[in-house]
Amino acid sequence: MYEGKSILQLHELLVSKKVTPLDLVKDAIELAKKDDNNAFEYIMENEAIKIASNLGEVDENNLLWGIPFVIKDNMSTKDVPTTASSNILKGYIPVFDATVVKKLKDAKAVPIGKTTLDELAMGGTGTSGHLGVTHNPWDKSKTRLVGGSSCGSAAATAAGIVPFALASDTGDSTRKPASFAGLVGLKPTWSRISRWGLFPFAPSLDTIGIFSRNVMDCAIVTSVLAGRDEKDATSSTEKVENYWKFVGKPCEKRNIAIVKEIVDTISDKEVVMAFNKTVSEFKNRGFKINEVSIPNEVLTSLFPTYFVISCAEATSNNANLDGIKFGPLSNGSTYEEVMCEARTKGFGELIKRRFVIGSFALMKENQNDLFLRAQRNRRRIVEIVNNILKDNDFIYLPAAPSIAPKINESSDRLSDEYLIADNHLVLGNFAGLPSITLPIGFKNDMPFGANLMGRAFDEVGLFQVAYELEQITGLANIYAKGGK
Ligand code: GLN
Repeated sequence: MYEGKSILQLHELLVSKKVTPLDLVKDAIELAKKDDNNAFEYIMENEAIKIASNLGEVDENNLLWGIPFVIKDNMSTKDVPTTASSNILKGYIPVFDATVVKKLKDAKAVPIGKTTLDELAMGGTGTSGHLGVTHNPWDKSKTRLVGGSSCGSAAATAAGIVPFALASDTGDSTRKPASFAGLVGLKPTWSRISRWGLFPFAPSLDTIGIFSRNVMDCAIVTSVLAGRDEKDATSSTEKVENYWKFVGKPCEKRNIAIVKEIVDTISDKEVVMAFNKTVSEFKNRGFKINEVSIPNEVLTSLFPTYFVISCAEATSNNANLDGIKFGPLSNGSTYEEVMCEARTKGFGELIKRRFVIGSFALMKENQNDLFLRAQRNRRRIVEIVNNILKDNDFIYLPAAPSIAPKINESSDRLSDEYLIADNHLVLGNFAGLPSITLPIGFKNDMPFGANLMGRAFDEVGLFQVAYELEQITGLANIYAKGGK
């Protein structure tokens, strides 16, 4: 009944007492139970009903009061199973809420479920979690991916079950699925939102992510989540704004850069045409568009650089998954035996491969040639990006080379198109910049998106220019109707 409604629409219904939080939660739970995309690890039925029943009187000044949402299952939730879609964490029930979960609960939003992901957030397909493939709600034939790693949060939001979802983004895990699922997907500035309780993948790149179906909703959630958290020493003390209050006000920053080489490498004409159309519209609205250049040899180094750094950090940060502290206990008479069995049984093939690569890159004799070399290259890339952002307020690009791929479709992973157009969103993680994906068009009834990236801590400007793009495309509040 309330499927597909935005935060603001639901807020109005709540304030005018046309619905209660309990109505919304029951409705969302029912939809979650009917979900046939494999979006959920765990539906928080009893927990959500209890919270919704005890919210008291409606608070009309609090836009999140009584609003249901879902949480990617790599975030700790007190007394609620949390697996990161990995067998190694089967049965793990955290004793605390991640700061982002706590903040939303304190704001009286109601979590209704934990969502599937690529195992431990390492992946971009939404196929590697222990519950198998997560499907794209827009594709009724169930042959297309929704993308990952935040697959379940993307699917639940795109199916209209909840108006927003918590996700995470280390390379593009919020912004790429957002493109495949017709969603708004935000990666904030690194350190803007506390990561306490988010399972680390590669902490120099990791951020919390947010999915919603319009820019305003995304800004509303960001306003609540942003800010210093004493529990996360890496969280920023930079001033937090009421971001949503700036949405819709004229955007003062008007210089937009487009990286020619990235657009040029995309072979899908429809994506490029739709993108170019939005560029013309930006011009019509008085924005200045500057074509800038990043050499191909730099762009083709993005993925290998990301892979070495992220695998190395992941290997080190996941060393605590040894079968003793969390998850099912394994057999063995020594620590090594227990750990070996737990990790052999508990991790999927792709995770093991990443840990092997990470360990290899960190070996003393390889460190200089691999890990440190990747870090030096990252520094070079960050300098290039920051240089572009000296004269430009934003960088604007197609978010992905095409619509969501078919489940078994494999791309040529050595082609420039793959290396560049499928991986350029990692620029935002390398440089720690805020970056947001929005839908800009459809092909074969499947959505595709574009991405805007801004200067560090300029979430205000980013939301404003994103809102402008939303006006240009008219693609706010779209969702895949009916589920089946
Ligand atoms: N797809 C990228 C990877 O495979 C990004 C993952 C992420 O952002 N969590 O690692």
